Amino acid sequence: MITPADEILLRRAIAVAAHAVAVGDAPYGSLLADSDGTVLVEAHNTVRRDNDIAAHPELKLARWAARELDPDTASRTTMYTSCQPCTMCAGGLVRSGIGRVVYALATEQLVELNPQSGDWPAVAHDGPALFDEASEPVLAYYRPAAGSGADG
Ligand SMILES: [Zn+2]
Repeated sequence: MITPADEILLRRAIAVAAHAVAVGDAPYGSLLADSDGTVLVEAHNTVRRDNDIAAHPELKLARWAARELDPDTASRTTMYTSCQPCTMCAGGLVRSGIGRVVYALATEQLVELNPQSGDWPAVAHDGPALFDEASEPVLAYYRPAAGSGADG
């Protein structure tokens, strides 16, 4: 459920998206707020500026939260973002520990406004394969030999 307090912060994320356009970047903005609604950090899309496909604001903030916040603090933050996080950012959000996401435009709404936003071709995946060989480094890391002193 989106509250009036959420809408205030969501409008600020939309303003960050508008700022992105004003400085020549793609129209996406996000911010991260603590449980009191204090804005901790903001970001906008800099994919073109940085020539970095991962420079989505949601992923920048997810990485920031994972790096700068302890897990308990991260779990009490909310990300406000002008558009629903894409699948790349959704994966980062899961690992970030951020507790909640509030977005303005759903992906379907974004694609209606700009059909190119949904024009991502599927990538062929082949596998699994080479189980024994591929298992070796995984087991070496997670199940070190007894007595090695590693804590796994
Ligand atoms: Zn994204």
